[in-house]
Amino acid sequence: MSDTTLSFDIIIVGSGLAGCSAAAVCAENGKKTAVFTKLHPLRSHSGAAQGGINAALYEDNTEKHQYDTVKGSDYLADQDAVELLCTQAPQIVRRLEEQGAVFSRTEDGRIAQRPFGGQQPHRACYAKDRTGLTLLQTTYETAHRGGVRFFPEWYVLDLLYNMEEHRAYGIIAYDLCTTALTTVIAKGVILATGGYARAFARNSNTHANTGDALSIALRHGLPLKDMEFVQFHPTGLADSGILISEAARGEGGYLLNAGGERFMKQYAPERAELAPRDVVSRAVESEIREGRGIGQKNGRKKDAVYLDVSHLGPAIIHSRLPELQDLALSFQGVDLTDGPVRVAPTAHYSMGGIATDLYGRVEFARGPDKTCNGLYAAGECGCISVHGANRLGGNSLLEAAVFGRIAGETAVREIAHKKVDPDGACARENLTAAKTNLETLFTGTTKKDQYALRRKLIEGMSAYAGIFRTAETLEKQLETIKQLRKDYTSLRVKDRSKRFNTELQDVLELGHLIDYSMVIVSAALKRRESRGAHFRTDFPKRNDKKWLCHSFSYQKQKPDSEGDIHHEYIPVRTGKFLIERRKY
Ligand SMILES: Cc1cc2nc3c(=O)[nH]c(=O)nc-3n(C[C@H](O)[C@H](O)[C@H](O)COP(=O)(O)OP(=O)(O)OC[C@H]3O[C@@H](n4cnc5c(N)ncnc54)[C@H](O)[C@@H]3O)c2cc1C
Repeated sequence: MSDTTLSFDIIIVGSGLAGCSAAAVCAENGKKTAVFTKLHPLRSHSGAAQGGINAALYEDNTEKHQYDTVKGSDYLADQDAVELLCTQAPQIVRRLEEQGAVFSRTEDGRIAQRPFGGQQPHRACYAKDRTGLTLLQTTYETAHRGGVRFFPEWYVLDLLYNMEEHRAYGIIAYDLCTTALTTVIAKGVILATGGYARAFARNSNTHANTGDALSIALRHGLPLKDMEFVQFHPTGLADSGILISEAARGEGGYLLNAGGERFMKQYAPERAELAPRDVVSRAVESEIREGRGIGQKNGRKKDAVYLDVSHLGPAIIHSRLPELQDLALSFQGVDLTDGPVRVAPTAHYSMGGIATDLYGRVEFARGPDKTCNGLYAAGECGCISVHGANRLGGNSLLEAAVFGRIAGETAVREIAHKKVDPDGACARENLTAAKTNLETLFTGTTKKDQYALRRKLIEGMSAYAGIFRTAETLEKQLETIKQLRKDYTSLRVKDRSKRFNTELQDVLELGHLIDYSMVIVSAALKRRESRGAHFRTDFPKRNDKKWLCHSFSYQKQKPDSEGDIHHEYIPVRTGKFLIERRKY
């Protein structure tokens, strides 16, 4: 393994909508900018987003958008962060349009908007059902034209980070083609590695969504915030978990149980199928658990319900939902114009992440001004607390675009007077550790099978830390993860080739999955209430007196009798919207 050193003003890890938005701003401001990404940029998960991006345009207003977002979050969102998100939305959508994003249009030429769960006026701007791909292409091209240097198919292994100074100096990465380690020095590092629902067996995420930056941050002593809140989307394809977007219900699709009944009216009398995702997912899961699911034919369990859009007719389905039509045909052999598709909840989005302030600066502890020097995070891997305990559909592309730009602007401002400082000692120490880690994986043999360990982890996460949780199920999963962590240390890579070694990448990603899953489960065990996507059947009520607060979770350097993870709590930043009972 050879090592070389590269140097930039700003490095971005990840090339999804958040990473490309940040990169475009840095380049616009004349900074020497590089994006390192383990995928080709256009294969980032942002490109899979189908339904839309929220913005209060026309008859709508940003105040209503804020209200829906705060209520949707089950009041756990910080209201100043929500205000920033929603007031920036119209200009972000218009900027994307000016840069070349082709949105669908109404007859009179306005940007078309569809209804999404938990929001009143039609607010999700869309490009058919390929919104994410359109926005990602536009932002990637803008960053490219601005002179950003992309390093596609490079795996970022670690940060160069000095824990005493709370300062980032760069990253350690390797080219997937050669496995050659490279140290990359920079004045600022922006983490934008996306979501991490791959920790669950049935999920809607791309294979790359393994939460790498979260576990890297944890290992450097940095806290993760609100990790107990994982969103399950009610309509994944029953066998694969592949997403059938909320656009299907937004356009008028129904959910039906085995008796052909539109059951959502019982769970959310006013909004029915267009209630927020946490409400609809629990309803679907309850129908299945209570024996009203469908699918017992061909040896299948009754583990799904029907989603029907056939009554919309071929014209609407072909013009507004073509991608969903393709997915249903390819993965279930169902033509949506003829009849319903089998769906079930799928792990989809993670509200928690690397704790940041409103400017995208990574926080090393709770409290004002406890932010790292030269380290930022944006997009789904970060947690600015705009989604609280439950995200509304269409708010995540928005978050990636808005806070990607803000993190970029902050980095540009803060590095203005900094010199590139290779901090020899810190870089050498981090590089030596990374090298030793890789060399260990390539030395000796093992009887353990990493894929069996992964299966055990993700099946346990779905069964015991999924939509419904109790202390008993969470404790069981915590024990499993502790054992998996021990087993992990004896894993070795059997394939010794240095070219595109996917076994090596899989084992590194498994390490990340294990580390942050431990935090999800441990934080869920601590929070003895139900709020948004976190539902404890043993504590089924929301408890604002005790739990109107964010969790900050740290990995202990040395586990003690209290466990491996240390939790602290900070109050939610409330504001003009009163905390109310949440009903739809
Ligand atoms: C199927 C689906 C549909 C969705 N639909 C919508 C929708 O309609 N509206 C909406 O608002 N939201 C939607 N979402 C959510 C939204 O798409 C995501 O939250 C958002 O796009 C995340 O953007 P990001 O830039 O943070 O991450 P991503 O787009 O996931 O990008 C992550 C990047 O990190 C890189 N990376 C990760 N680890 C490493 C590493 N170790 N080294 C190097 N690179 C690394 C990857 O290569 C990738 O480029 C959907 C999500 C899914 C899964």
